[in-house]
Amino acid sequence: MESRPPPAKKFKTSQPVCGQRRNNALLQEMEIEQQRRELPIYRARGKLLGQLRQLDTAVIIGETGSGKTTQIPQYLYEASIGRQGIIGITQPRRVAAISLAARVSEEKKTELGTLIGYTVRFEDLTSDKSKIKFLTDGMLLREAIGDPLLRRYSVVILDEAHERTVHTDVLFGIVKAAQKKRKELSKMPLKVLVMSATMDVDLFSQYFDRAPVLYLEGRQHSIQVFYTKESQSDYLHASLVSIFQIHQEAPPSHSILVFLTGQEEIEAMSRTCREIAKHLPQGCAQMSVFPLYASLPHLQQLRVFQLGQKGCRKVILSTNIAETSITIPGIKYVVDTGMVKAKRYTPESGLEVLAVQKVSKAQAWQRAGRAGRQQAGICYRLYTEEEFEKFLNMTVPEIQRCNLASVMLQLLALRIPNILTFDFMSKPSPDAVRAAIEQLELLGAIECKDSQIILTQLGKKMAAFPLEPRFSKFGVRLESSRSNTSNIRQCLAHALFLNAAELQLDGTYATLDTRQPVAIHPSSVLFNCKPSYILYNELLHTSKCYIRDLCVVDPEWLYEAAPEYFGRKLKGVNS
Ligand code: ADP
Ligand code: MG
Repeated sequence: MESRPPPAKKFKTSQPVCGQRRNNALLQEMEIEQQRRELPIYRARGKLLGQLRQLDTAVIIGETGSGKTTQIPQYLYEASIGRQGIIGITQPRRVAAISLAARVSEEKKTELGTLIGYTVRFEDLTSDKSKIKFLTDGMLLREAIGDPLLRRYSVVILDEAHERTVHTDVLFGIVKAAQKKRKELSKMPLKVLVMSATMDVDLFSQYFDRAPVLYLEGRQHSIQVFYTKESQSDYLHASLVSIFQIHQEAPPSHSILVFLTGQEEIEAMSRTCREIAKHLPQGCAQMSVFPLYASLPHLQQLRVFQLGQKGCRKVILSTNIAETSITIPGIKYVVDTGMVKAKRYTPESGLEVLAVQKVSKAQAWQRAGRAGRQQAGICYRLYTEEEFEKFLNMTVPEIQRCNLASVMLQLLALRIPNILTFDFMSKPSPDAVRAAIEQLELLGAIECKDSQIILTQLGKKMAAFPLEPRFSKFGVRLESSRSNTSNIRQCLAHALFLNAAELQLDGTYATLDTRQPVAIHPSSVLFNCKPSYILYNELLHTSKCYIRDLCVVDPEWLYEAAPEYFGRKLKGVNS
């Protein structure tokens, strides 16, 4: 009895802790409110809302960090513009959609998934109450298949329009048509806002029937940009030198964001950084290295948003997924290699290849912008100013450098009357359209009758999957395959028969479709094995054209999957 503390004492000790917590929360709320007021966009709030209230469509351009993405949806909601429906904001990447929804929800002091939510592939954190919804462009496109008029939305904000992902480009046409149709049918009007920090405003304004362009002035924090004096032959080595130079000179609370090109490069660089950091002279701060790339598990991706440990430098090695939209707390330095891994497509060969190439000027400015989100920042460009001047101004739209099978299938599912004359902002090449239609016909997704293209029952099912047509053709009878993988591999053959490669007499491989020479990627378990026929998922162009994500198949299965096609390609197998 004596050891138990009297109740009054217990109450006394716990009260200040609770009070402290409440005070901290209150302080944090006030701080966030203060941060909102200090954003450059805040000064333009009244005028901006006056204009947006009147306009059906607007193109909005403002420096990165001015507050476009986090503030405009809130301003509209607070001013009761578009409250009769949902205010949807698209993002090219899921990590951006999720982190922005979380930030705006925090700013509005609501629980994520109530007033403010997000929808990304395989995850929907919204409810009936959600009025501001961040979603990937791919998810809005999927919703449009269910309802091409997007009737749940009062406002659609197409953010980071300069990225010109294939989904955003299709959405431009879809929202434009939905807006017109809703007006004709006297339904709730649809407001369309197109936003970016680095876009060709004339092109966008022209496309949206000469929509007014609204310029937001001002940047909250300055960013100093430095170029190398000489051209760098090895950007990985140059990045390492920059990271450790900054590490030795700057306070550990200044985090570093480095733009690299892909998973393997990032994982290898992470290991090297950790190794070097172990052997630094005494007195040098510790270093935590965080990789960030699209295929990294979601929870690991979110770790980059956590504040770093006191006295320990945070270094983030990322692909271009950290290039736009997001704010990673603590970033003061950006190291930009100027390189990116991007898709390239040649319809003649039918090959969609991932290749490392130079970024555009728009991308380089977006990367620099990540340094000045919460404080003045510094961007080291690992290329000379002359090299920068030679970069393309804008990124080539993805629609002009990818396989269009998925887009064409979605347009058919969207019941677009004539997919060949769809209102694209930048038209894809006729050869790429023809190749896509041929591929869909081979997969059994469409039928071409009397110069009309009709979606088959299988095609309808395939369009419902958030996957490329060659993957959605899989959907396997549910039964245990035990240790026998042949039924799974057979199934893969039925879907991926266009991605088959054949062993040649000299021990090399060539694709069956176009006889392109390819090599098994060294990371594959099949490296140094020589199976006769293999399927691949990805083509990667570095020193050679590599194939990876492989599976051994029987040529008979390929023939069964598309007899007519392989009748032409596989001499001997069908005899
Ligand atoms: P824009 O879209 O114009 O580039 P945002 O609206 O995304 O700008 O962000 C404006 C500013 O709000 C950022 O520069 C940063 O100061 C602050 N901010 C946004 N998201 C976060 C976050 N998750 N954590 C801390 N600050 C943030
Ligand atoms: Mg933004």
